[in-house]
Amino acid sequence: MSAKPAGRTILASTIAKPFTEEIVANVSKLSFKPKLVGFLANDDPAAAMYASWTGKTCESLGFQYDLITVDKNELEASLIKANKEDEVSGIMVYFPVFGDRQDQYLQQLISPEKDVEGLNFMYYHNLYHNVRFLDPPNNEQKSILPCTPLAMVKILEYLGVYNSLLHYGNRLYGKKVLIVNRSEIVGRPLAALLANDGATVYSVDINDIQQFTRGDDLSEQRHKVIDLDTGVHSVESLAPTCDVIITGVPSDNYKFPTEHVTNGTVVINFASAKNFNEDIKLKAGLYVPSIGKVTISMLLRNLIRLIENREVRDRSE
Ligand code: NAD
Repeated sequence: MSAKPAGRTILASTIAKPFTEEIVANVSKLSFKPKLVGFLANDDPAAAMYASWTGKTCESLGFQYDLITVDKNELEASLIKANKEDEVSGIMVYFPVFGDRQDQYLQQLISPEKDVEGLNFMYYHNLYHNVRFLDPPNNEQKSILPCTPLAMVKILEYLGVYNSLLHYGNRLYGKKVLIVNRSEIVGRPLAALLANDGATVYSVDINDIQQFTRGDDLSEQRHKVIDLDTGVHSVESLAPTCDVIITGVPSDNYKFPTEHVTNGTVVINFASAKNFNEDIKLKAGLYVPSIGKVTISMLLRNLIRLIENREVRDRSE
C-alpha cells in the first residue's frame, strides 16, 4: 500500500474561486462590459493556448475579450491605437515577440492606465519601493501589481501563511521563504513583495543566492538585498529552515530535492514544468502544484482595478 500524505494538495482552481466570485460581482456593478484586448504576434502554440484560455475565462466572468493577431512589425502601431481607444479597458501582449529588448520597449508602450498585467516600470518602481498608491496623500488609486507575484501573495494569504493578527504590511513577520527563480517577471518582484510584508526571503537563481529582508524597523519602507556567500549557504542548507518553498524553474529536468524539505512546509510550484517529484506530498503541509488559474483571476482583478482608478481620476477632473 502506498504511503498516505499527512498534508494536503490544494488546487489553483480552489484558490481562484473566491476571487472569480468577487470579480463577477464587481463586473455586474459596472454600467458597461469591460473589454480586454490581447495581441498575439508570435506563432508560439503555448501563447495561443494561453490566449484562448484567457478568452474563455473573460467571457465566462462577464468581460469582452478581443484577440488580435498582428504581424510583429505592426504591433507597435496596434498598441498605440489601442491605447487611444476609449472602449478598450485593458491591453496585454503575448510575449516573446522579438525575444530581445525590443519586447521591453513594446511592453512599456502600453499605457499604464490599460496595463492589465502590471508590467509598466512605474508599477515596478512602486512595488520595489513599497509604494501602494498612485495618488498620495489621497490614496484612492491603488498601484497595480504584476499578476503572477500578486497571485502568489493571494495564495499565501489563502493558505494562512499571512498572519492577519499582525499589522497590515508586516503579516509575514518571522516567516522564511525560499524562491527558486529570480526573473524580472516573477521571482525578483515576488521576493521584494514578500520581504516588504516582513518575510526573510532567500532568492535563488542559476548563479547565486540573495537575501531580501524588511528588517525590524517598520519605519524603513522598503526591503534590503544582500548577496549570500554560496560557500556557506546553499539550497540544501536553507531549505530545511524555511516555512515556504516556491519554485519556478522552466525545465523538465529540474527537480527540487525533496529530502531537504522539512515536514509541514508550504510548497508551491509556478513553473509550467513540474519542479517537484510526487514524494513532495509526503513532506509538504500544503502543496500547490500549479498556479495558472489564480494568475488569470489576478489579471481580471487588475482590469477592474484599472477601471476603478480611472473612475477616481474622472471624478476628480
Ligand atoms: P525565466 O527563464 O525568465 O527565469 C527562470 C529563473 O529560474 C531564472 O532566475 C533562473 O536563474 C532560474 N533558474 C533556472 N534554472 C535554475 C536552477 N537549476 N537552479 C536555480 N535557479 C534556476 O522564466 P520565467 O519567465 O520566470 O518563468 C519561469 C516559469 O514560470 C516558466 O515555466 C513559466 O512558464 C512559468 N510562469 C508561470 C506563470 C503563472 O502564472 N503560472 C507566470 C509566469 C511564468
